[in-house]
Amino acid sequence: MGTVISLELFEDKPDAVEAVYHYLQKAEKEFSANDNCSELMRINRSAGKQPVTVNSNLFSVIKQAVEFSKEYRTSFNIALGPLVKLWRIGFADQRVPLQSEIKSALQLIDIDSVELDESRHQVYLMNYGMELDLGAIAKGYFADQIIVLLKYFGINNGIINLGGNTVTFGVNQVVSSHLWKVGIQSPWQYRGTMVGEVQCRACSAVTSGIGERNFQYKGRLYHHIIDPQTGYPLENDLAQVTIFSSSSLYGEVLSTVALFSGIDNGLLLINQIPNVSGVFISKTGRIRTTSGINFKAIA
Ligand code: AMP
Ligand code: MG
Repeated sequence: MGTVISLELFEDKPDAVEAVYHYLQKAEKEFSANDNCSELMRINRSAGKQPVTVNSNLFSVIKQAVEFSKEYRTSFNIALGPLVKLWRIGFADQRVPLQSEIKSALQLIDIDSVELDESRHQVYLMNYGMELDLGAIAKGYFADQIIVLLKYFGINNGIINLGGNTVTFGVNQVVSSHLWKVGIQSPWQYRGTMVGEVQCRACSAVTSGIGERNFQYKGRLYHHIIDPQTGYPLENDLAQVTIFSSSSLYGEVLSTVALFSGIDNGLLLINQIPNVSGVFISKTGRIRTTSGINFKAIA
């Protein structure tokens, strides 16, 4: 998945850790847009040809993601595959595509051309060249599933970190308040450099930002969050958004949507959603948070 995944538990249960490891290996084979043998790529390869029957987990994630893509049309879109593949940001062959290539790819990202058949668990991309990309949502789904798996093994407290997605569950057994502290990373510095921390009960913390997967070309920064309206990396006043929510999958969607909204509208949007909060960092380094969040800046 292009990241380091860690589990921190308060008890020694190797069989549970093993089960999570196997779950993630299997999940990657199903959900990856970078592995030609994955189940997702089977859908993509059949675009414009025929519907593909997939397992119920993948179908359920695609169904939810399609619904969110329709709700947040101008920002979150899982049909963005042709554009993601064009830019290849984060890979060795990343590049600035030609204007003409972007124009063609923009014709192939229509979420209304994704047809779902609930009874058969079939997904059909109606036009040749369409591609789904679950990169913005998959890790959130995996995090939610790992908690279910760990609870099945009787593990009720811990931290799951899927690089950019941190989920705390149960209670923090090492402090008397039982609260968790989640660090907010600087968008521009090395992993682990904090600009602040949030104290919370069990929750998912999902970050979307332009600071980690990007490259510079002719003095401009190109990053991995692509604007479905232009085909180019998103440009506004925000560098990073972290969303706190109970569902990590929902946090994934909202972190992307909030990033697109810009700092003022993003704060308005997240403030309106019950039991969800956020920390926003602008390109100039200004930090703002939604109301009712226990955030402390680190100088
Ligand atoms: P995240 O790290 O969760 O912010 O997701 C970023 C990844 O989602 C990218 O690497 C792409 O694979 C994909 N992606 C990029 N732009 C979008 C977008 N506007 N909507 C949905 N997925 C996107
Ligand atoms: Mg995301």
